[in-house]
Amino acid sequence: MNKKLICILCPQGCPINVEYTEKELGGIEVISIEGSKCARGEYWAKEEVENPVRTVTSSIRIFNGELPLLSVRTDKPIPKKRIFDVMNVIKNLEVKAPVKRGQIIVENILGLEANLIATRTVNRVNGEE
Ligand code: SF4
Repeated sequence: MNKKLICILCPQGCPINVEYTEKELGGIEVISIEGSKCARGEYWAKEEVENPVRTVTSSIRIFNGELPLLSVRTDKPIPKKRIFDVMNVIKNLEVKAPVKRGQIIVENILGLEANLIATRTVNRVNGEE
């Protein structure tokens, strides 16, 4: 099987073709990588096919805040196949203001070794920090 990717690591945006096979017991094994101009891009392409990860960004409800929503993200990329599970946790979260930028909202979310953190400060509606 083949997967065509555009490397996102630098402005050159190399088109990369990854040939891979599915293992009998699950998982994917890369057989060859063509088109990358550097080792970094080759490693990225291999990971993108074998174990793709993404940083999740979203918003949660915040009570007594100067804004109705608090923007959040994971502080590390998580496996792409777990994004739906993480979004299910996020959609049920509610916090109370104030919240500081960088504050951990959920530690080690779903045991994925990534924290869910606030990406901005939201003060209380009366301006109290
Ligand atoms: S493969 Fe290397 S040179 Fe090409 S876009 Fe990726 S990082 Fe840049």
